[in-house]
Amino acid sequence: MRKKIVAGNWKMNNTLEQGVDLAKEVVQLAKKELPGDVTLVLVPPYIHLSAIKEVLKGSEQVFLSAQNCHQEDSGAYTGEISVPMLKSVGTQYVVLGHSERREYFSENNAQLASKVDAVLHHGLIPIFCCGESLETREHGDPYAFVKQQITESLFHLDKESMRKIVVAYEPIWAIGTGKTATSDQAQYMHATIRGHLADQYGADLAAEISILYGGSCKPSNAEELFSCEDVDGGLIGGASLKARDFLDIATSY
Ligand code: PEP
Repeated sequence: MRKKIVAGNWKMNNTLEQGVDLAKEVVQLAKKELPGDVTLVLVPPYIHLSAIKEVLKGSEQVFLSAQNCHQEDSGAYTGEISVPMLKSVGTQYVVLGHSERREYFSENNAQLASKVDAVLHHGLIPIFCCGESLETREHGDPYAFVKQQITESLFHLDKESMRKIVVAYEPIWAIGTGKTATSDQAQYMHATIRGHLADQYGADLAAEISILYGGSCKPSNAEELFSCEDVDGGLIGGASLKARDFLDIATSY
């Protein structure tokens, strides 16, 4: 059975105090309200990971993720953070290939394949982001584009490693724009992704992979998106900065 996961990507937001307060509120609400089969993941900036880990101690349903990592374990890479460092502060997941990383920091499919390997090598779980631009949606082939992202960054993995991956489909035109994919658009792309995984790894393995939707997901549209057969949760940006909204989304199943 694949997991239902709702992850909150805080991006470059919150001071330490604000982040700790937000995490505390999420944990308190999750204790009272979160269904037993839903996993929450908080994705704060690197600098807050240790402190948020303390807040999450004893909370069985709320996990910790980084927003990125470097592919090397150590070395002369000023300003970068490695997977062993993330692991040493208790990080369990790493978001990879967010469209903002691809756009502003020129991350490409080949580099992301190395990051996926580094994360898996150290026993953490990659949340691998993929998704097309508005230009590709309107004038290109969004399905071929997303399949290529997955092929080039993930299809070197053996079955055992692939089983550990979480995929997040995030159409770039829906991120932070208030424009959400319709449930039909989301379902069709998620089914396409699962079919692509099935072609490479078999239907049984593909059925085990959680595929999250991301892009202006909020309390008012989460229920409809999460009711799609192939949508297994969400990667939430803006709405994860308010504990009440984040929990309202997470309890929309
Ligand atoms: C994101 O950045 O991963 C995201 C989905 O952002 P938002 O929910 O704000 O569109």
